[in-house]
Amino acid sequence: MVHFKDDTMLLEAIGKFTQCLSQWNLNYNTMIENCNSYFIQCMNSFIKNDIKRVKDSRRNFHKNSEDVGTAFSRNAQVPKSKLGECEEAASNLVISRNNFKKASIDYLFEVNIIQYKKRTEVLNCLLSHLKGHQSFIVQTNSTFNDLNPYIQQISASLQTLQNEAASTRQQLRNESNTVLNLAMSSSVDDHRMSTSTSSQIDVYPNEECMEGYLYKRTTKTFKSWVRRWFIVDNNQLMYCSQHKSREGAVIMERDLRLCNVVPFQDTDRRFCFQIISPHRTHLLQADNEKDCQKWVAFIQETAKKAYNRMNSTPSCIKVGCISADLMASSCSPLRCVSTKSPPSATSNLLPKIPSHVKSILTISGNDVCCDCGHPDPRWASFNLGVTLCIECSGIHRSFGVHKSKVKSVTLDAWEPDQVRVMEQLGNDIARRIFELFVCEDGDVCMNDAGTKIVKATPNCSREVREEWVTAKYLKRSFVRRSNSQNHPTMPSTPQLKNAVKMNDGADAYGNDYWLNQDADDSEAASKLLCRAAEVGNLPGMLKALALGADVNFKNTEDSDKTPLIYSLTTGLNAPVEFMLLNGSKVDVPDADKKTPLHHAAILGNAGQICLLLKRKANQHLKDINGNDALSIAVENADANVVTILRLARLNEEMKGSDGGFDNPSDDMFAEVFKDFSAIPSSSVDGASSTRSSICTLSSTTTTFQ
Ligand SMILES: [Zn+2]
Repeated sequence: MVHFKDDTMLLEAIGKFTQCLSQWNLNYNTMIENCNSYFIQCMNSFIKNDIKRVKDSRRNFHKNSEDVGTAFSRNAQVPKSKLGECEEAASNLVISRNNFKKASIDYLFEVNIIQYKKRTEVLNCLLSHLKGHQSFIVQTNSTFNDLNPYIQQISASLQTLQNEAASTRQQLRNESNTVLNLAMSSSVDDHRMSTSTSSQIDVYPNEECMEGYLYKRTTKTFKSWVRRWFIVDNNQLMYCSQHKSREGAVIMERDLRLCNVVPFQDTDRRFCFQIISPHRTHLLQADNEKDCQKWVAFIQETAKKAYNRMNSTPSCIKVGCISADLMASSCSPLRCVSTKSPPSATSNLLPKIPSHVKSILTISGNDVCCDCGHPDPRWASFNLGVTLCIECSGIHRSFGVHKSKVKSVTLDAWEPDQVRVMEQLGNDIARRIFELFVCEDGDVCMNDAGTKIVKATPNCSREVREEWVTAKYLKRSFVRRSNSQNHPTMPSTPQLKNAVKMNDGADAYGNDYWLNQDADDSEAASKLLCRAAEVGNLPGMLKALALGADVNFKNTEDSDKTPLIYSLTTGLNAPVEFMLLNGSKVDVPDADKKTPLHHAAILGNAGQICLLLKRKANQHLKDINGNDALSIAVENADANVVTILRLARLNEEMKGSDGGFDNPSDDMFAEVFKDFSAIPSSSVDGASSTRSSICTLSSTTTTFQ
């Protein structure tokens, strides 16, 4: 019924026919019931009364027959001498014979009666049975007679409908034959196939959008493939499960400019291609080689067009005046309801700009790309503390995360300590370090070996850009003169220590001092790194790294302390985060076998402990006195540090007990870290709020124990 809810004719017919057949069914059941009960009644009375009477008379007949036999015997046995007995026996014999005659006649009578009655009773039963059927048929007939006009009407309609269906079928058959012929002929001719209707790919006339089915490999682990409808539109790649239903389409890649598309041969499947994005790699499969080439070419072309469009559009980010475009891009929803909605719709929402976006983009020099000067940097290398355009960020990414950690300023999440690192560096400082000895001659510079290198510009080719960025950061060609001279003399360590003490933790020298430092070899650079780390001067630390400092250097003149250990003494998070971002190993101990975690525990700095634990610092390591970080904190009665270390242990144990999957304590642990890193370690207010959050923490942990 549900399937015909809009078809009134069919619904009416079903209703009437159902009613009629129900009536028929009811009559039939009543008739059968009546017939059965009457038949049983007749038979019961016949068996119980009539047959019983016959049986009784037969029994009587047999009894009298025996009695006559007995009377004959007695009569025969009487001795001649006893005359009295002879007479008695003779009279008994006469009585018995009379009784026997009577019983015989009775029996015969009953048998005859039953013979007649048998016929009438059976006939009677049959007749009433037939009458029952007859009345049922009459009733049914009248029911169907009532329905007859309607049946005729439906029959006529049915004929019309059948004729219509036949003609439609013929029409469809003709159409499908035409399509089939077209498809068959076009598959012979490759050229025509691209325009044929059988092609599974739709390219829209303006060539801004392409859609079609592709197989998508779900995960690397299970390697199963699913067929999805893919759409390339508006410089984005998305897919949905159903053909042409963009409702709920999943965006696979938000910005195809960041992606590299290449045919992929290293698989058992044919017609595969790979989309390599900054964060993931997608493996897709087309239906045939031609489609595969088409997809690869189209995506490459889309990315190129989008890139050119971006270059021709004037910059929309100005320092201090963040454009609506930026806001839209920083808050665009993950799920795309309709990609055709006008861009102004999102801009009108006027979302709140994340505070980190403003603080990163307003740092001196960060309004243009650090490497090519493109005026629209939305990417950043957060271990180098610079902002980058999308093209330069791609080159940084190709270095690997151990050299340059790249993420989007607007689209990615930023941790407070990462923002603090960015805030203390910036493009101006980075250029003073990495482009210090650029000998400018137009756009051509010389590296330290005297080779000419063309400086990257916003619109330069990828080759030029790659060579420039590689020379600048990887080869560090412009950091020092080949024959360095006239650099300011470095103060010795004791001098510096005094200066630090006098200024109560503040950097006594300022950025200019540190940026003018030089080091002839790696050891000197490493010592420079230690000194800059000790006062927490990030420009100085970056300069030392550029000069070739070893991030895990052990200062043998000062108990094998590492730059990371020095950075802890500042009491600040940013220098520690900077060292960790730039590859400091988290557990390297000093001569007393004290790890950075030991030092942080001694200093009682909860924020720094969180940073180290986040990098999976091992808190079970013991120093030369056999103490681990927790026992030091317990000895110091440092409630904050004890709580955090215990919480981390609890987290480890819970991970160990359930295999580390879906551990709810992980989220809580991350929240705690967030609490601590959100508090500026140097702020006075920070101390009290740290204490209050520790109170809530302690109550949380007690519920676990
Ligand atoms: Zn750039």
